[in-house]
Parts: sequence; structure tokens; C-alpha cells
Amino acid sequence: MSAKDGEKDPSFVCVHCGAPCTALFRKLSASSIKATTCVNERCQQVVDPYIEREWLLVAIDWILLRPEAYRHVLFNAKKEFPMLESVSWGRALQLTIASCFLHAYLQYEAAKRNSETDATIQEGGGRKTSMILLIVASILDLMIRWWGVSLFVAASSKSRQAQKVKIITTRLFWSFLLPTAFHVTSIFVLIWENSKTTGALGSLLVTGWQCLAVSLVADDVAPGYGKVTAAVGLALGILWRLVFSQIAAVPCLGFEVDLFFPLSEQNKSWPSICLT
Ligand SMILES: [Zn+2]
Repeated sequence: MSAKDGEKDPSFVCVHCGAPCTALFRKLSASSIKATTCVNERCQQVVDPYIEREWLLVAIDWILLRPEAYRHVLFNAKKEFPMLESVSWGRALQLTIASCFLHAYLQYEAAKRNSETDATIQEGGGRKTSMILLIVASILDLMIRWWGVSLFVAASSKSRQAQKVKIITTRLFWSFLLPTAFHVTSIFVLIWENSKTTGALGSLLVTGWQCLAVSLVADDVAPGYGKVTAAVGLALGILWRLVFSQIAAVPCLGFEVDLFFPLSEQNKSWPSICLT
């Protein structure tokens, strides 16, 4: 930590209530600091106790869906994670492709498990084409939700400053991307047990973390719109998967629910909606 962490930056927040603050701590001497207390009368707690905790503890609280850990990572951890507010398009693309490759691999395994005779998943050349299709589908899935939610937050927010909009959009990007790191764990679990339940649970966890992160970022700029924004992101994902699964037979990685009406008189098959 350094004194620069919070002395002149007005964009830190109290991890408990989300109230803005200008500093996370005050430097008393060369070797001692004093943690800042929240100015919100109903809160008055230390604004960010995580600045003195190990990253493992932050990660555990993130997994346990504690909003305090999310606010620490997305708003206050600027020194440890400078890309939070400014990430280049090149780096964002690299990370998106890496994340979506993991997601596509999980989908590939799901498709292989679901049907041995699935025409889109074959050995040799068919397998390669199919993986590319799944990677493209995963990238579009992420992009549609991110852009859709960013537009919704920009419309809900009163702030029209270009710099502020850029920071919010970047935070939303990380809100969607960071939880997908869990796909690595899902792949290891898949080696141990390649079942529909493990795939669905992993997908549900990632979606839950994304929803909480998106809702906290949205609430910061458009108070009261957090849960609605998370629901918009969820709905966009469901709609996109419904459309794309009809076009390219991309399998659902998470929870799937059958719709109870036929698409047309000729096509009596009932489409499924992919919830997560
Ligand atoms: Zn507070």
C-alpha cells in the first residue's frame, strides 16, 4: 500500500454501504496508517477492511457472494489491479478469447456427453469446426450481455461524462469476465465427473457471481437499478442462447428448461431455453 492509494481519488467506495469516499486510509507516519471510517451515518464502519487482508480471503468471500468483497475488487483494488478502470482493446480481446475458449471446451464436452451421434460434434475435421463455432458462440454470448447491460446502465445513469462512462463499461466487462475464471475449476471437476449436474452447477455459480457484480456496479451509478440491470443481462443471455441454439445447435452448459409450445405446425419439436 502507498499513500497514493486513496488520498486524492474520489472514486473509492465503502465496501459495506457503497457510499463514495476519497481515501481508504490516512498515513500517520512512515510505518503506520489509519483506516478511513465511512461518512454514512447509518454505516460508520471501516470503509475497506480488505486492504489489510490476503487475496485468498478476498477470493473466498467472492465465492461466498459477499458484496463487500465484490466492491473491494471492482472499485477499490486499483493499485493491485490497474486494468479495472482502463483496459486496452487488445488485452480485453485476448482475455475474452481465453475465457471463451474454456467455456467452449465445457460446451464441447457437454455436447459429446449429450449425444454420441450429434452431427455437429465429430472426430477429425468436424471436431475442429465445431470448436470454432462454440468459441464464436461463447464470445458473442459474452459480448451481447456486456454491451446490452452497458447500454442499459448508460441510459439509466445520469452521468454523461465520457470518462465516467468508460470506467463503468470497463467495470462491467470485468464483472462478466472475472467470474468465468471458475471455468478452469469446472474443467478439472469434469475430468473427475463429466455429468450434467456438475456442468449446470458450475454455470449457475458463474452466472450468480456475474449477476451480483453487475448489480453492484450498476447500483453505484444508477441507484436502485442494480437488480434490474442484472436481470437484463440474464434475459439477454437467455434470448441469445435460444436464438443461437435454433441456428447452430449449440448445447446448453447450465440449466435448461423446455418451452411448452411448438415453433410451427411443421416443426413439432419444442425448443429449450438455457437459463445459465
Ligand atoms: Zn459505509
